[in-house]
Amino acid sequence: MSKTAASRKSPKKESAQKVRPGQPAASETAAPPLSFDTLCIQGGYDPKVSEPRILPIVQSTTYKYDDIDHVNRIMTLQAFGHKYSRTSNPTVAGFEARMNLLEGGTATVATASGQAANLLAIITIVRPGDHILAASQLYGGTFTLLNSTLKKFGIETTFFDPNASRADVEKLVRPETRLIFGETLGNPGLAILDFDKLAHIAKKHGIPFIVDNSLATAWLCQPFKHGANIVTYSATKYVDGHATSIGGAVIDGGNFDWANGKFPDFTTPDPTYNGVIYTQNFPQTAFLVKARAQFLRDFGGCLSPLNAFLFNLGLETLHLRMPRHGENALALARFLAKHSKVAWVNYPGLDATGKKRIEKYFRHKNGSGILTFGIKGDLDSVRRFVKRLRVAALVVHVADARTGVLHPASSTHAQMNEKQLLAAGITPDMIRVSVGTEDVADLIADFDQALAAA
Ligand SMILES: *Cc1c(COP(=O)(O)O)cnc(C)c1O
Repeated sequence: MSKTAASRKSPKKESAQKVRPGQPAASETAAPPLSFDTLCIQGGYDPKVSEPRILPIVQSTTYKYDDIDHVNRIMTLQAFGHKYSRTSNPTVAGFEARMNLLEGGTATVATASGQAANLLAIITIVRPGDHILAASQLYGGTFTLLNSTLKKFGIETTFFDPNASRADVEKLVRPETRLIFGETLGNPGLAILDFDKLAHIAKKHGIPFIVDNSLATAWLCQPFKHGANIVTYSATKYVDGHATSIGGAVIDGGNFDWANGKFPDFTTPDPTYNGVIYTQNFPQTAFLVKARAQFLRDFGGCLSPLNAFLFNLGLETLHLRMPRHGENALALARFLAKHSKVAWVNYPGLDATGKKRIEKYFRHKNGSGILTFGIKGDLDSVRRFVKRLRVAALVVHVADARTGVLHPASSTHAQMNEKQLLAAGITPDMIRVSVGTEDVADLIADFDQALAAA
């Protein structure tokens, strides 16, 4: 189990933790504390003399040992070491270490997709008969996972209006509730999560608070600082930033008491590892070690070394791309808000609540790169507008350097009924724009000419 990154609380305050290719994560180094921007570029990988300056792609399933006792210690979680790339790989470990530093977690595991990340995080905690509380403004795939697929396995989810009062959300907690789930920026309603409210409920009821940070990223928001216990990612989005690869990550905040009596799988011996007890053997990283050792092993949703390499490269410009995404999105939102053919515009920070939450929870005054708006007219107006775009393209994706648009009601959220659509913050006329890093003047001109056709 990768100690990939044991031991970080805050990336600002503590020294960088780095991983050498083919080596277990270094425990502590004496490096001086590094800022967020520097960790984006150098965090997680510490080459020695004559080693590659760039995190190498270790395209190997397999690792070599000298004696069977060493292999036995690795296989029974008594020692760390790569054994087989389904559960760890040096390139993947480098990406995990960097993500861990940027979020300020205690350990991180990379996954094959964002869906795999959310499934891994959830399934590490719940059993059949358990109950989940989730914000109703969620990525469509996550909604389906909770509302349909996990239900078939006996795990029920209640969805709450993220803007409901603390008392109204708390009323939904049951004795068998085992976690609260939300997204930093709800997709595509774009509500900023009320961290304090949900963290308070989670803490009071002794259940973990999971936050999907894909659309904000650690550059904008570090959920562990606001009471989250576990952070998940679709790395496919801004971490990659260039629409090249599917992948995800789960990060352990190391700040939840799994021995509070509600989570027996953490406190009783795991027979598949000779009786390891996660909370005893791994007090700081019980959740992450269990996730990797049990469910990454069994379900196999691991990240490939090549995708880890590309994500790691993406992170090297995260601090440069995110400000531009936000500036472009704000400028386009302001342009659209004044346009005669636009019915409404939604962008985080344009309304008073959003502005307050950005002040409170975000590291920068920036609302990320996603906005939504409605065109005056009917579905045919939407059709004509989308067809006419020249710089922006119709894509089922967000968080690319290239601007993309999508009509959620007919695509990502087509599985929802009208009531569910409204609860998710989606109207039939909604167009979601993932604003890229192009010259915003070109984007505004493009939207202007396409709106003329609508
Ligand atoms: C895209 C996305 C996911 C799913 O991630 P994949 O990498 O596509 O599997 C989950 N959550 C959010 C917020 C997303 O935007």
